[in-house]
Amino acid sequence: MAGRKILVTGGNRGIGLSIARALVEAGHDVVVTNRSGEAPEGLRAVQCEVTDTASVDQAFAAAEEILGGPVEVLVANAGITKDTLLMRMSDEDFDSVLDTNLAGAFRCARRAVKGMIRARHGRIIFISSVVGLYGSPGQTNYASSKSGLVGLARSISRELGGRGITANVVAPGFIETDMTAALPDDRKQTYLATIPAGRFGQADEVAATVRFLAGDDAAYITGAVIPVDGGLGMGH
Ligand code: NDP
Repeated sequence: MAGRKILVTGGNRGIGLSIARALVEAGHDVVVTNRSGEAPEGLRAVQCEVTDTASVDQAFAAAEEILGGPVEVLVANAGITKDTLLMRMSDEDFDSVLDTNLAGAFRCARRAVKGMIRARHGRIIFISSVVGLYGSPGQTNYASSKSGLVGLARSISRELGGRGITANVVAPGFIETDMTAALPDDRKQTYLATIPAGRFGQADEVAATVRFLAGDDAAYITGAVIPVDGGLGMGH
């Protein structure tokens, strides 16, 4: 398989870091984005704030300089949560999560397709969540942002499928990372009871699915929502 030029947003830790490492192991040329600090060991990084269009554009320019050409595969992974019950959720709680998770992914995809259209090849992989289609109390902002990625991917698939570009959504369930470590224990136990696999997932299990979607074997998969959730969202 030909190694591709790949940008992973939020690839400095958590699921994004596992994805970046799996793609490097598969022979791809990978750059990750981070917002501050050092690049993770063994990876090249560019600074990017996904809520800022100018920062996204600068990050792509810097990544393309490092990669020696346009980004061929975008993994839009950067995301945040600001959980609270609907009645208590402020406009800022809602807007900031949508701006990061949905509009941030849109900004990256819009920039990425410029090179992909010229190359008549591209892969866009959005990291959504099981709760995008399943729903989750206390996460109206987050679930809205994550289901929005489905409409984004499917519209890109219809708009640019004829140019050799695919856009897919990976929907992880409960994966052990910093994001989920912050949840209260009772909430974790409630989730665990509903997961058919009987355990939480690992970041490298999400990474394996992304690696498949980025590879040549996935050329005819587009507009799909692929769960990596131990069966939690089955049927949704
Ligand atoms: P982490 O909180 O561990 O990492 C989030 C990453 O996103 C960090 O690299 C962070 O950068 C980056 N990021 C956040 N906001 C911005 C921003 N405005 N601009 C640029 N980068 C940003 O999360 P996970 O690894 O757990 O999650 C990764 C993705 O997977 C997210 O989209 C999340 O919603 C999704 N997901 C996670 C699940 C889980 O169980 N963990 C389940 C389902 C989906 P920085 O280090 O600078 O903060």
